Amino acid sequence: MQVVTPILEIAELVAEFGGESLHVCMQCGTCTAVCPWNLVGVNNPRVIMRQISLGFEGCEGEDLWRCVTCNTCVARCPRGVEIIDVLRAARTMMNAAGSVPPNHKGALASLHSDGNPWQGDRSERVAVAAELGLPELTDDHEYLYFTCCSQTYDPRNKKAAKALARLLDVSGVSFGVRPEAEVCCGDQARKVGAQDVFDELAEENAELLGAEGVTKVLTASPHCLNVINKDYAEAEVDLGVKAEHYTEVLERALDAGQLTPTVEVTKKVAYHDPCYLGRHNGIYDAPRNLLDAIPGLTRVELRRNRENSLCCGGGGGGIWADVPTEERFAVVRVREALEVGAEVIATACPYCTSMLEDAVKVLDLEDRIEIQDVAELLAESVE
Ligand code: SF4
Ligand code: SF4
Repeated sequence: MQVVTPILEIAELVAEFGGESLHVCMQCGTCTAVCPWNLVGVNNPRVIMRQISLGFEGCEGEDLWRCVTCNTCVARCPRGVEIIDVLRAARTMMNAAGSVPPNHKGALASLHSDGNPWQGDRSERVAVAAELGLPELTDDHEYLYFTCCSQTYDPRNKKAAKALARLLDVSGVSFGVRPEAEVCCGDQARKVGAQDVFDELAEENAELLGAEGVTKVLTASPHCLNVINKDYAEAEVDLGVKAEHYTEVLERALDAGQLTPTVEVTKKVAYHDPCYLGRHNGIYDAPRNLLDAIPGLTRVELRRNRENSLCCGGGGGGIWADVPTEERFAVVRVREALEVGAEVIATACPYCTSMLEDAVKVLDLEDRIEIQDVAELLAESVE
C-alpha cells in the first residue's frame, strides 16, 4: 500500500476522521513496547504513527489492521496520543479508498443489510427475546435492555443471555426490550473504519435509544456499553441516555439483598478482564464481587489482570480476522489460566467468550478448562 499524499493534506484528513492527536507523537516507542502483539508476533504502533504522518509511506496493508483496540498503549502514551483514534482515522481513509481486508467484507455487508454481522434475519431478535421471556418495554420500566447481536445470533452466547435474563428476573430489575427496533451497536464497524456503516446503525438505534422516556440502558456487552456512552455522543448522536453493564446492575442487586447466590459452585475460576469493560471503562470490581458472592467458588487472578489484562484479540475487527493459532492472544490467555490451575475462565463479554472458547477448542483442552460468562456462573448459584 503506497498512498503517498502531501503530508499537510494527510494530517488534515487524519484529523478530520478523529486522529488529530497524531501530531503530538514524539516517537518514544512506549506504545510498541506495551502492545500485546509482542507476545505472539510483531506490531509496531510507533512506526505506524510515523508512516501515517508521512502519507502512509512504507505502510504495508496488514500493518493498519492488526490493532485490536485493547487500549493498553493509549493508557501508557506519555503524550496522550489517542492511538486507537489515529488508527481508526487511517482505516476510515483506507475504507474510503476501497481498501478493506477481505474478511471484513461479509460482516460489514451483513451489518448494512441485516443490522447484525452474523447474516441473521432481523426478525430473529424478536423471536429470541420471546424465547427468553424478555418483556416488551413500557413507560414504567427503569431500563431499556440493549440485547447485543452476539447474544441473539450466536448459539454459544445465547446461553449467557438466557442466564442473564433469569438473573434480572430473580433480582426484580425493572427492564424491557424493543428487539424490533434494535440493530447492532456498530462498535466493530467503527473500529475498522467503516464509518458509513456505523453511521447507519447509529441512526437506527437513535430512534430506539432516543425515544421519550428512555434514560437508562442496560447492556450485556461492554462493546455496546462503550458505543452508547462514548461513540454515539462523539458521532453527535446525543441521546441523553446512560448505559450500564449488567455486572454493575447485578452488583447493586446483590448489595441490596435482591440477589442471593446460595447453591455451591465448587469451581476454581480465573476472571478475564474484557478490554472494553476494564481498560476502556474502568469496571474491574463488579464482576469480581459477583463471583466472590458465589458460595464454594474459588477465584484466582491471572498473571496479567485488571489494567494489565491481556486482550482476547476480538476487538477492532479481530474477531473477523483469520489468525494462526500461535498468534492468537486467546491461546496465550488460556495457557495463562492453566498456569494458575483454573478450571473455568469467567468473563463478561460475548467477544471474549467466543475468542477464548475457540482457543480452548484449537488447543484441544475442552476436558480441562471451560469458558463461562459471569452471568452463567451466578445463575448456577441462584435458585
Ligand atoms: S507512546 Fe505515544 S508518543 Fe510514544 S511513540 Fe507511541 S504514540 Fe508516539
Ligand atoms: S490498542 Fe492494543 S493492539 Fe492496538 S496498538 Fe495499542 S497496544 Fe497494540
